Amino acid sequence: MDLGKLIQERIRDIPDYPKAGVVFKDITPLLADHIAFAGVVDTIVNHHGRGTIDKIVGIEARGFILAAPVAYHFGAGFVPVRKKGKLPAATHGQTYDLEYGTETIEIHSDALEQGDRVLIVDDVLATGGTAQAAAELVRRGGGDVVGLSVLLELSFLHGRDKLGNLDVHSLVTV
Ligand code: AMP
Repeated sequence: MDLGKLIQERIRDIPDYPKAGVVFKDITPLLADHIAFAGVVDTIVNHHGRGTIDKIVGIEARGFILAAPVAYHFGAGFVPVRKKGKLPAATHGQTYDLEYGTETIEIHSDALEQGDRVLIVDDVLATGGTAQAAAELVRRGGGDVVGLSVLLELSFLHGRDKLGNLDVHSLVTV
């Protein structure tokens, strides 16, 4: 079966979660399907090519699940970006706007080496605020953001427009 079609079949819509008006894209059925999960990891690795990336940055929490096997197959390190207050050592933080209020995400200040080539991985690209903030954290940590890979892009929210000329690679776009 076509991988794009399989991915779409294995992501389910949960209306009004976590709050009214939001359609949550639940990737747990995809993760439970070993063919779909492996296909996603292989596609991300093949898009960039082994040896071209030093670190994979995964965004809490579902980004971690995808980023860790991608890092393993690239032969790259894994670096977590987490919500404020969750990382134990010294951090850089970046605050960005949500529909209501703000969110702050953090990276360990010593997680990247100067000039590291970094791929950011997450499950869903929506408004792009999270990815933009993660890219800023990577740059502040001395890394060079070579791209963003996401499972699903919600194109009607125009997140891509916030990311300048970054290579945005989405496996499925709706
Ligand atoms: P944004 O900053 O608006 O691009 O939102 C992206 C982040 O929020 C990602 O880390 C996603 O996991 C999560 N997210 C946003 N919208 C959704 C959605 N409709 N379903 C699942 N996760 C979402």
